[in-house]
Amino acid sequence: MNYYMKEIECAPRHEIEALQSFHLSQQIRHAYKNVAPYRDKMNKADVKPEDIKSIADLKKLPFTTKQDLRDNYPYGMFAVPLSEVVRIHASSGTTGKQTVVGHTQRDIDIWAECAARSLVSVGGSREDFVHVSYGYGLFTGGLGMHYGAEKLGAVTIPASAGNSMRQLEMFRDFGSTIVCMTPSYAISLIELMNENGFSKDDFKLKSGVFGAEPWSEEMRREIESGLGIKAYDIFGLSEMMGPSVSCECVYQCGMHICEDHFIPEIIDPDTLQPLPEGTQGELVFSCITKEAMPLIRYRTRDIATLVYDKCECGRTLARMLKPQGRTDDMLIIRGVNVFPSQIEAALLGFDNRATNYLLVVDRVNNSDTLEVQIETPAEIVGSIADLQVYEKKAKSVIDSAIGVGVTIKLKEPKSLDRSTGKAVRVVDNRKIKNKFGS
Ligand code: ADP
Ligand code: ZN
Repeated sequence: MNYYMKEIECAPRHEIEALQSFHLSQQIRHAYKNVAPYRDKMNKADVKPEDIKSIADLKKLPFTTKQDLRDNYPYGMFAVPLSEVVRIHASSGTTGKQTVVGHTQRDIDIWAECAARSLVSVGGSREDFVHVSYGYGLFTGGLGMHYGAEKLGAVTIPASAGNSMRQLEMFRDFGSTIVCMTPSYAISLIELMNENGFSKDDFKLKSGVFGAEPWSEEMRREIESGLGIKAYDIFGLSEMMGPSVSCECVYQCGMHICEDHFIPEIIDPDTLQPLPEGTQGELVFSCITKEAMPLIRYRTRDIATLVYDKCECGRTLARMLKPQGRTDDMLIIRGVNVFPSQIEAALLGFDNRATNYLLVVDRVNNSDTLEVQIETPAEIVGSIADLQVYEKKAKSVIDSAIGVGVTIKLKEPKSLDRSTGKAVRVVDNRKIKNKFGS
């Protein structure tokens, strides 16, 4: 089987839209008939399945939110009897209570096909050794890429996350050529390589797909030089399936969305109105082929931009540009909106060693404070003068990048936590305080 599916991936826009319109109208009938919460919402909005004939009708449909999934926990959004469900996954619960997702066998097959297509779009083939260092389990990263790599016919190495020295030995001994993991775990492995005398020349790695968390272009450069590979961005969320909703191609200019299965939209998160192509806003997806758990106009809370021009690779599938983060991750510091990814970009632009950092937000005397914790580079640990210069420079670079004053706290080398999955980059003490009523 060829997973460069040109008839879909390179189809003219009107053909993609015709396919989407067909699947959308079918999916809405399926959801209305079988999922009470969708039926209720559509009835309230006075929309009937017959009203949805094409993608132009999409905007008539109510949105779905994570809260809907939580309210119907665990199986209330399923559209098929549980006897048809072959797998359960759950979101990582990064922003609250976990949400549960079910898949039929066909859903799993489509997911695996999307993951195989992603691997092909970054130059993978059945000759590759795909090393999967995303966690296996309810988290979708591990099994998602695993099934894709097998479908492709590659040698699949189900390493899972953790046991990091062993990962490096496996890269070397098993001849891994493509790695799949979170970008922050890649950084942890590069550090370990350098500390233990591994060189990128010990490995046959050529590329990697990195996702599950936001990461900046500066972080991409660090991963590419540290592992000697091309580093590609891959996106997904468990509510939709997991990794491979979209993935970059070798031109690294945004992630091609599997539009034969998902219809993307960008909306203004305040007015909920769709925004024109090229505008940044909240990403909304409708899953149009899912059997077990249809998702209609699901608000991801991810901030991204969609572009539709034909890519140099020949694919016509819409691309989503690097997500900046989620609306939930956005920090409001003294009235200014700040995404952690902006700080990461500024910090790495100033010192490419500063790949481990932590943002601590607090409120002191009724005013927000933002402390950026960075590990002191080993070379300057002994010199107070050098430390002062470093701190001052770091502060000025970040202050001007985000437009709000921060304090820099230089920590002991290696004192911040290392990530094996999704990195925790922010501690917001204001939230903790609110929780306890102070
Ligand atoms: P949770 O929502 O609990 O973290 P998931 O594991 O389903 O659970 O995570 C999906 C989320 O991860 C997405 O909504 C998005 O915020 C983030 N994400 C996934 N891939 C990427 C990526 N390539 N770039 C930025 N963020 C990503
Ligand atoms: Zn492309």
